[in-house]
Amino acid sequence: MRLLAAALALSLGVSAYASEQKPITVTRVGTQPSNAGAEQNFTGSVFVDARFQAAAPARVGGGIVTFAPGARTAWHTHPLGQTLIVTSGVGLVQKWDDAVQEIRPGDVVWIPPGVKHWHGASHTVGMSHIAISESLHGKSVDWMEKVSKEQYGQ
Ligand code: MN
Repeated sequence: MRLLAAALALSLGVSAYASEQKPITVTRVGTQPSNAGAEQNFTGSVFVDARFQAAAPARVGGGIVTFAPGARTAWHTHPLGQTLIVTSGVGLVQKWDDAVQEIRPGDVVWIPPGVKHWHGASHTVGMSHIAISESLHGKSVDWMEKVSKEQYGQ
C-alpha cells in the first residue's frame, strides 16, 4: 500500500504521500496574542487574532480582524484577492471610485486581485471579519495611503 500511495502521488505530480504523513495542526485559542494592526496601515483600534499562514505549497493565510467603531484599513490591494466573512457588528467596504457598501454578519465579500479598496467598522458600531488571502511570492497585501476622514465620511 505504501508503494501504491507513493506511485499515486508521483502520478498526480503532488506530494500526497508526504502530506498524508504530516500531522493535523490545531493552534489553540489563547496561545497566540492579539496583534495590534500596524499604525501605518490602519486608522483607529484594530486587532488581529487567530492569525494563520499555511506552509508551501499552500499559500492561504489570514486571521480574524476586529475594528473598533471608526477604525479601518488603509487603501490596499491583494495580489491574489481576498475573502472577508463578517462575524459580528456592522462594517463598511469600498472599492476605489465606487460607493461604500455596508456589510453585516454572515456576508461574504470577495475582493478581486489588484482591486484598490479598504474595509473597516461603521462609524458607530465595531466589526469583526475573518480575512483570507493567498500569497504571491510571499506577499498577500500591498499597502497604500490611509483612508481620509473625508473618504470615510466623517
Ligand atoms: Mn483587503
